[in-house]
Amino acid sequence: MKTFGKSFTQQQPISEAAIARAAEIMRSGRLHRYNTVDNEESETSLLEVEFAAYLGVPYALACASGGYALQIALRSVGLAPGDPVLCNAFTLSPVPGAIHNAGGRPLLVETGEDYTIDVEDLRRKAAASQAKLLLLSHMRGHIASMEEVLEVCESHGIKLIEDCAHTLGARWKGRMSGTFGDVACFSSQTYKHLNSGEGGFLTTSDPELMARAVIHSGSYMLYGRHRAVPGEEDFQRVRLVTPNMSGRMDNLRAAILRVQLHELDENCRRWNVLYSCLEAELRKIPGLSMPHRPQHEQYVGSSIQFSLPGFSEDQMRNFVESCGNRGVEVKWFGEKEPRGFTSRYDSWQYINELPDLPLTRRVLSTLCDMRIPLTFDETDCLLIGEIVGECARGDRG
Ligand SMILES: *Cc1c(COP(=O)(O)O)cnc(C)c1O
Repeated sequence: MKTFGKSFTQQQPISEAAIARAAEIMRSGRLHRYNTVDNEESETSLLEVEFAAYLGVPYALACASGGYALQIALRSVGLAPGDPVLCNAFTLSPVPGAIHNAGGRPLLVETGEDYTIDVEDLRRKAAASQAKLLLLSHMRGHIASMEEVLEVCESHGIKLIEDCAHTLGARWKGRMSGTFGDVACFSSQTYKHLNSGEGGFLTTSDPELMARAVIHSGSYMLYGRHRAVPGEEDFQRVRLVTPNMSGRMDNLRAAILRVQLHELDENCRRWNVLYSCLEAELRKIPGLSMPHRPQHEQYVGSSIQFSLPGFSEDQMRNFVESCGNRGVEVKWFGEKEPRGFTSRYDSWQYINELPDLPLTRRVLSTLCDMRIPLTFDETDCLLIGEIVGECARGDRG
């Protein structure tokens, strides 16, 4: 029996150019973003300008993590303590965690067969609740019909926060993911599309929201050293009434990220080559299903999802285990017990009145996920497909 020997969590090394720039920053000793000499622009500030330009938005803030960006995005967009926030039930735990952290109440919305937010349930819950915010996760890179989501938001006066942890570099009908909402958040944690170990970004076109976010992030009164920000008037309005919630990015991470930003489009292209190869193999497997992604969804295939409809809990467990035994790390989102990075919504028990979400439970019950690190090649994808196929058949038999 063939086995697969590479690690699903091994990313590419940091490029020599990025290492060289990081070494320069370390030699300077000026790692703090506001530690500048004369008219020096800090590495973090330059990164923000470049990140904003990449997305085509006026404002960007680099901060400590994606989850942190979500938390201050919610506060900056106007969340008041106790406010309900609509949010996908199928997401990663830092998302409801950010809502809780910002004082809000997650109001979980069902998941469709295509793994995106169920717009009908969103419409229902938007109408039935007082929610004025939607935190939309483009979970595992799957983008919901943005026209429909925006239509629901507009008709109920709901502001949209996009969680783009898996869609940096992705587009919907040619428009960059992260430019649809009032504010968007990104992560540069090791397993996302940029890798600075930890890190995050917040982007927006709203000057007052941005001024609040910058002060929240811990700018003190040094916000004048940012470049991708609005003018002094916007800061004047908010600077004394916005608490400092210290969560800045530092120049060392920024140095690594500035170089990686130039490598991003090429990396996205490589992810999609691997994704297409693996997708083609998986589609050959009887009983395995994958939603056909809309033509105008220009995703970044840094991970791949599939379902095994009809599999029982035991069959799912056996399947995941037999893949694992052969070196193929499959995550199962339907598992009762949270494990590693994955947890099902009903394990977030700090949420009062956890709703019953039968559609989500059904979708998650056979939903599998594999990372596609860029240390894999197409031969690896063929072997992974073969092993997944054999394990899926084994469990059917
Ligand atoms: C990783 C992730 C986050 C949070 O990012 P961190 O930088 O790890 O805090 C938020 N949402 C989703 C969907 C994620 O996968």
